[in-house]
Amino acid sequence: VNTAKVRQVIQQAQEGYLPPDKVFDLLNAAGINTVKQHTATTLEEALDHASAIGYPLVMKVSGPVHKSDLGGVVVGIKYRTELEKTFGRLMQLEGADGVILQQQLSGTEVYLGAKAEDGYGHQVLCGLGGIFVEVFKDVSAALAPVGSEEARKMIRRLKSYPIIKGTRGKAGINEELLVEAIMKLSTLLEAAPEISEMDINPLMGTPGALVAVDARISVC
Ligand code: ADP
Ligand code: MG
Repeated sequence: VNTAKVRQVIQQAQEGYLPPDKVFDLLNAAGINTVKQHTATTLEEALDHASAIGYPLVMKVSGPVHKSDLGGVVVGIKYRTELEKTFGRLMQLEGADGVILQQQLSGTEVYLGAKAEDGYGHQVLCGLGGIFVEVFKDVSAALAPVGSEEARKMIRRLKSYPIIKGTRGKAGINEELLVEAIMKLSTLLEAAPEISEMDINPLMGTPGALVAVDARISVC
């Protein structure tokens, strides 16, 4: 973990949610990989970023916290004409301050989170992303600092652990990379106790990589 960089971002932050580029700066400073991403406020910028990232890509509204609820996340943008149409629509959504363009990744969606508990430091959370977190509440928790043994236990007690391992011919995700990501998150929380809550949802996991595509962090 690059503590100097973490402190720099935190000290410049205002109370509340960090802007998306600062969120990714913090994750990168903690050694957590993030998807290639650029934010555009004009169509011209968006087209430049698209050539740099390459199609297919994902477009998201920047500003609102729950982007898909508003129709603010569009995956599988393959052509310039689609990008142009989507850019116009996303910029008109309530609270939009720009459009995020990202490389499109595939894999199994993983959730990592943290929550400050008064007087106890931080609770670190992990699970599979999407419905596993929201519908089935299949999440493991441990108090920071979390070492490798405890991180591995958190993962193995999930009901969805067989999906992490890979079942029925479907590739799973790299368990050791997930163990490392939990430890990196724990170290980030030690370097930045001001973090009141954070969610990385999802990270895209494959047998070879674990990359964050969406995260929010609030500081106090
Ligand atoms: P929000 O949580 O604000 O609704 P997300 O950025 O998490 O928005 O996107 C919602 C869903 O879109 C993700 O759970 C994932 O299925 C898909 N998605 C988002 N970004 C990417 C990406 N870069 N590559 C592939 N799929 C993505
Ligand atoms: Mg999300």
